[in-house]
Amino acid sequence: MVDGYLPKSFEEALKILNENDVTIYAGGTDLMVRHKNATALLPKFNKDLLYVGDLAELKEIKESKDSLEIGAACTLSSLLRIKEIPEVLKESIRQIASPAIRNMGTIGGNICNASPAGDTLPILYALDAKLKLISQNSSREVHIEDFILGPRKIILEKTEILKSIIIPKAEFNKTYYEKVGARKASAISKLSFIGLAEIKDEKVKDIRIAIGSVASKVVRIRVAEDFIIEKNLEAIKLELEEILNIYSREIVPIDDQRSTAVYRKTVALRLIQYFLNTDI
Ligand SMILES: Cc1cc2nc3c(=O)[nH]c(=O)nc-3n(C[C@H](O)[C@H](O)[C@H](O)COP(=O)(O)OP(=O)(O)OC[C@H]3O[C@@H](n4cnc5c(N)ncnc54)[C@H](O)[C@@H]3O)c2cc1C
Repeated sequence: MVDGYLPKSFEEALKILNENDVTIYAGGTDLMVRHKNATALLPKFNKDLLYVGDLAELKEIKESKDSLEIGAACTLSSLLRIKEIPEVLKESIRQIASPAIRNMGTIGGNICNASPAGDTLPILYALDAKLKLISQNSSREVHIEDFILGPRKIILEKTEILKSIIIPKAEFNKTYYEKVGARKASAISKLSFIGLAEIKDEKVKDIRIAIGSVASKVVRIRVAEDFIIEKNLEAIKLELEEILNIYSREIVPIDDQRSTAVYRKTVALRLIQYFLNTDI
């Protein structure tokens, strides 16, 4: 039997975290599945639980000139109703699970769960998101790429909480998102792809490509992006093979119940090729 903490304020939550060994939960949609028990029995937890899903400080959306800050406990559904949320993030959220799960599940939970198939992750990598981690005695901001070490492995300390996600503003005039699943709705990704680019006078000024479920972490390769930036579209077509080779080295998927490594790699490389070669 475990206890549950229901803090009334963010400060109280941080104090509880500082003084106790607890598991944080928000929507519980990952946690309850991970700790599920035999049929008709309650989930089995080995630590007391700290519920953060109703804390006002974790539900705020703040916009500044340069960035958008999203509270970690904002539910996926609620983000769909907010005008300022980047359309590409909304597009990925619309394809997560079902409305019932999106009403409970939070963006912070999707990040901290650190599943290679987490659907907001490639988008947040591509948008250069930073995460605000707070404890009673400290505060730090880390890039999402440095936060996630591998499947279910994150750098969050026991006393820390993910408070918010900071997305720097950027302009893109070419965007392409594709979630490849067994069906259109309620499917966990076989893989997911996001391409964002800013093209001006036939030249690539900015490009970000991120792919989920094709390695232990989201694949985003800066050397490949640097290789493409400032090239014109014709040059990219001529050097496509070289670009695909760079990605190919980092795309190392696995076989699992949802797909095969060969399928994932083939589709990932074709999506990169499609994004780079097509006027979307
Ligand atoms: C039927 C079903 C279908 C699903 N389909 C998809 C899908 O298509 N795509 C997809 O990406 N996901 C899917 N999921 C997974 C899940 O719904 C999402 O990952 C969701 O965003 C998790 O959010 P949560 O608030 O429920 O997380 P929780 O279960 O509450 O927590 C998840 C993890 O994050 C930690 N955590 C949560 N909030 C914080 C915080 N603020 N600070 C620090 N740690 C925190 C918890 O300790 C836990 O380790 C599905 C789940 C189910 C049950």
